[in-house]
Amino acid sequence: MQTQNLIGGRWVGADSGATFAVTDPATDEHVADVPKCGRAETARAIGAAQEAWGAWRSKTAAERGEAVRKLAELMVRDQERLAGLMTREQGKPLAEARGEIAYAASFLTWAAEEGRRLYGEMIPASFANKRLLVMRQPVGVCAIITPWNFPSAMITRKLGPALSCGCTVVIKPAEDTPLSALAIGELCGEAGIPAGVVNIVTGTPAEIGDELLSNPAVRKLSFTGSTQVGKLLMRKAADNVLRLSMELGGHAPFIVFDDADVEAAVAGAMATKFRNAGQTCICANRLYVQAGIYDEFVGRLTEAVSCLKVGRGTDEGVQVGPLINDAAVEKVEAHVADARERGADVLFGGQRAHVAGGADRFFQPTLLAGVTGEMRLSREETFGPVAPVRRFMEEAEAIAWANDSDFGLAAYAYTRDASRCFRVAEALEYGIVGMNDAAPSTAQAPFGGVKQSGIGREGGKYVMDEYTETKYVSWGVSGA
Ligand code: NAP
Repeated sequence: MQTQNLIGGRWVGADSGATFAVTDPATDEHVADVPKCGRAETARAIGAAQEAWGAWRSKTAAERGEAVRKLAELMVRDQERLAGLMTREQGKPLAEARGEIAYAASFLTWAAEEGRRLYGEMIPASFANKRLLVMRQPVGVCAIITPWNFPSAMITRKLGPALSCGCTVVIKPAEDTPLSALAIGELCGEAGIPAGVVNIVTGTPAEIGDELLSNPAVRKLSFTGSTQVGKLLMRKAADNVLRLSMELGGHAPFIVFDDADVEAAVAGAMATKFRNAGQTCICANRLYVQAGIYDEFVGRLTEAVSCLKVGRGTDEGVQVGPLINDAAVEKVEAHVADARERGADVLFGGQRAHVAGGADRFFQPTLLAGVTGEMRLSREETFGPVAPVRRFMEEAEAIAWANDSDFGLAAYAYTRDASRCFRVAEALEYGIVGMNDAAPSTAQAPFGGVKQSGIGREGGKYVMDEYTETKYVSWGVSGA
């Protein structure tokens, strides 16, 4: 297990020798100590990325793509080891961790290919003696700040395209899950990615962040995390007018119409709500179910929720692991308590779950009915295994409720009516719509939000715009 930081191709500790502990959220067991770095180490990492940039951007797209593709292969080769590490520091069930490693590698594979297609353009000029060219060039040194809920995929979704476009990076992973990031850093060396192209710094977020956002060598911030921290970073990034990619919080509505395939809708709700114990940015936060199908849907959902197995991610058959930390459990408890006080009925769960030998950080898969719009869980991300259900009468009502949010990341709808599919998909003010599909995220499609869910898109051909500058060359041609 790699526990040091990666700066300029060397594995190093903090200047002060200080460390912080990484613990298993399922058991509170100590997993490792990693460096507690600050501004000085971050400045050196930026310097290394700046120094490495010239040679890296000069390589051909095919050469860079080859290294990125190799990194993907190594992640797949080490899938079992990386998944085990992830489950220990993050808590998600091993099967989900394996899935995340494959998903993380898919962003690298996609970006490795897409880098070969960074085409320019020739624009017809208004004068015979001019040629107008457009070329795409790498942005430069990129700061990458990532969350704990997908400790590998949120890195590779940025790292793959950044490297393929010819950028170099400094990564700051979440304090809860630094080991998955450091493991990727190790594989970067094996993949032949030159020293200084990828740097990883762990430690005090505000200190590392302040250096990343004020150092003039950094040209871009790519952030995934909460809207609250995202706004703070955007304010700080303003001083250097940094380019921004912001993947922020979500509050996904999940709408089930009377004409839906109920079985598919229940399966979809289960998949999107309880994956990663409800700790995903695109997980359903509000289930709106039309009156005609309400009783059947809620009955089947209650049955499915009651069958979920809660436990340590390493235990066989576990589907819901622990929440990431104590604050996360307290937030889920507060949301459920608020909903109950305001009249919601608990159809299943509703409190912490006891797991033998486990920490006090598990929450029962929970189903709430009688939910109303003013409850906290109708407006804020719960980030836990709680499914609040609300009955609606008309399509317009469900759309209005769905759009009544500051967030706009993902939304879901289940219906068999093709015309309604289009109407609803167009009316939802969200960056991603899962239409009869609860798992829309994939490497070749654009991922990102509107409103306070963010700026920019990751995935697909679209992500390449985030790591390239558009340069225009107006060329005078004599004798033409
Ligand atoms: P967070 O608290 O915003 O933290 C995200 C990252 O920012 C972490 O690395 C964190 O470091 C760092 N950070 C915090 N304060 C900072 C500062 N002052 N300067 C620089 N960095 C700072 O979010 P989280 O709790 O890790 O993740 C959950 C959130 O991410 C949810 O809101 C979820 O919806 C969102 N998310 C969005 C997407 C998407 O694609 N839109 C995907 C996944 C998650 P520490 O961990 O060390 O504090």
